[in-house]
Order: sequence, then C-alpha cells, then structure tokens
Amino acid sequence: MQSPLSHRLIRFAKFVLLFAALAALCGRAGLRQLCGGEYIAPIVWPEPPIVEPGAAGGPPSDAIVLFDGKDLSAFKDGQDWKIKDGCAIADKHDIDTKQSFGDCQVHVEWAAPEKIEGRGQGRGNSGVYLMGLYEIQILDSYNNDTYYDGQAAGVYKQHPPMVNACRKPGQWQTYDIIWEAPKFDKQGKLLRPAYVTVLHNGVLVQNHFELAGGTSWNEKPHYTAHADKLPLRLQFHVNPVRFRNIWIREIKDIVGTPGKHPHHPD
Ligand code: MG
Repeated sequence: MQSPLSHRLIRFAKFVLLFAALAALCGRAGLRQLCGGEYIAPIVWPEPPIVEPGAAGGPPSDAIVLFDGKDLSAFKDGQDWKIKDGCAIADKHDIDTKQSFGDCQVHVEWAAPEKIEGRGQGRGNSGVYLMGLYEIQILDSYNNDTYYDGQAAGVYKQHPPMVNACRKPGQWQTYDIIWEAPKFDKQGKLLRPAYVTVLHNGVLVQNHFELAGGTSWNEKPHYTAHADKLPLRLQFHVNPVRFRNIWIREIKDIVGTPGKHPHHPD
C-alpha cells in the first residue's frame, strides 16, 4: 500500500511529464502565448538593411550626397553658385537637384554671413524647398526680428519653429528634415497632405507638422497636384548664405507580410 507521500510524488511526476509534453508540442514561444505571456505579431518582417551611419553629421552609407565641398554638379546650373574653401555660396538664382525625390531625410549645413547686413527677411535669407514647393526657411534669426512663421526653421508662412535654436551669424548650423510628400490621386485630389519634422542644430523645431499646401509669399497655402517625386531646391535670396555637407536619403517603409516568425528568438 502506497503512502500519502508517494501519492503526492506520483501526482507531481505526472504534472511534470504533462508540462514537458505541452512544451514539446507548442514550442516555448507558443507556450508563452498559450499562457497569456509574450505577444508575437503575426507578421513576417524582412530584415532591415544594414546602413553604416558614418561620421557625426556625415552621410550614412545609403545617402545620396548632393554636396561634399567639391562642386554642385548634383544641381542644375549648380556651377552658378560660388565654391570657396569647401563651401557653396548662394548666388544668382535658386538651384534644383537633377534628381527628384519624394519621402526623404535631408541633411543641410548652412551659415548666414558673419557680417550683419540688412534686417528681418533681408538678413541671411535662403531656404530648403522640399519638392521645390515647400520651404523650410533659412534666415539669420539670431537677435533678428521678423514674423515668426518666416524665421529660421519655420515652414514659411505656415508654422513657426517651436523654439528658436539659431546660432550666431557666421557659425555653422544644421537642418535635419524628415519629409513625407503629399499624395494625389489620378484626378488630382489630395489623398494625404505633406508632413515635415525638422531638427535645427539637433533641436526638434517642427514635429510632424501637417502642411496646408505650398509655401508662398503672396498666396494662401493650397495644394496643386504634382508628381510623386520632384527636385529639391536651395534658394538664392540675395544674401550670400554658405552651405556644406548636403545629403539626402530616400525613405522607404519596411513592409511585412502576414505569417509566422521563422526567426523569432525564443
Ligand atoms: Mg527663404
């Protein structure tokens, strides 16, 4: 006759065997899900491509370099801007890239003239025009009064920067811009507005701002249908603003497919 202790030991052994069988049946990840543990999305993601980030401020390995200090051959009529000491100096007219871009990440370094001349919109004015239509203002906004939605890092006449992160004239400044292009259907109807996020000298100044259309000096913003990709423009606004280290990355979303995770670490 078995003792109560041996009964308990046998029951415990059965439980262990049952648990081991369940674990073998479901796999550890499956068992965790069965028990209400870890959530695993039913999507198979492609492996994110490896990108070498490069030196601080320098182009990542998958960037398209638009200006590296040598020439502006990536721009139409780029030879009309001066190149001096590895910098491009705005001159004569705006310049557009030869290549067109839609959703993208843009890095631009610029410096307003050290010698202060002019005031308001006449001081260190240039601009980065996404798709040639939507301007992120470049301006010497260090102790320089102007309308707020026209100061440095503003979406021109639509939205001021959340803070003024401008450095002194003559000093190098960075813009890091994340651009989501507007989308139109075949009839020209707006399907999705444009959004922009901007860091000025590493400080967030535009946070996924929704644009109401193109940025015009004399027109209320509105959308006019255009291609999915258009050239990037740098503005010449009389002032000899300097540029260096300009690069762009096309943004491609990573798309998964429904299914099980073949490589999910468990
Ligand atoms: Mg401008």
